[in-house]
Amino acid sequence: GCSSEGVAAALRAAAEVVAEHRSELVELDRAIGDGDHGENMSRGFTAIVSALETEVPATPAGVAKLAATTLISKVGGAAGPLYGTAFLRASTRLGDADSLDVPLLVAALQAALDGVQARGKAVGGDATMVDALIPAVSAAEACPADASIADVLTAAADAADRGAESTVDLVPRKGRASYLGERAVGHMDPGARSTALLLRAFAEAAR
Ligand code: ADP
Ligand code: MG
Ligand code: MG
Repeated sequence: GCSSEGVAAALRAAAEVVAEHRSELVELDRAIGDGDHGENMSRGFTAIVSALETEVPATPAGVAKLAATTLISKVGGAAGPLYGTAFLRASTRLGDADSLDVPLLVAALQAALDGVQARGKAVGGDATMVDALIPAVSAAEACPADASIADVLTAAADAADRGAESTVDLVPRKGRASYLGERAVGHMDPGARSTALLLRAFAEAAR
């Protein structure tokens, strides 16, 4: 199982990865959006790390909720509320459990995806973060019963990488990139890339 401290450690690892990839995310968003995705993500995750310095909530759900409220309040644009909703739905699904196990993790990932889709109305193939999340959740669900949390997150991150790659060939139908239509083909969606980076960071933290 994974305690609230473990979930907090995963978020700190994610903040580091986001900071390392800040300019990559800026470049991806500059090509088909407004160029702020790296800034938005690094501001949001830096704020999560600061909030965790004050206090680490007692349950995984509490940590996820702190991440959600921080992202919603500190990050403007599309991605803040979308990731915020993802963490909020995950938090609700985690309930009062004091540690995270594989079935709960898989359920929380599914809840996060459902939240992003409820909020943003994107479906698979619209060239958004949903194109990384859908295969990630499927891969997590397909893991064998004896898989560890690290195994499940690694499978999810691998699938998210392929999902993010798939957005290169898609015509964006949601968010700013949709304004470009066909002209956006040939570019990876920045939010799909950041989703893959977050899942990879969580997987590495769970090792
Ligand atoms: P903004 O577009 O407001 O500047 P960001 O640059 O931070 O916000 O985030 C852009 C990312 O948000 C996109 O690459 C895409 O993955 C995601 N996104 C935008 N709109 C939606 C939506 N309706 N559903 C899912 N994801 C979306
Ligand atoms: Mg942007
Ligand atoms: Mg913006």
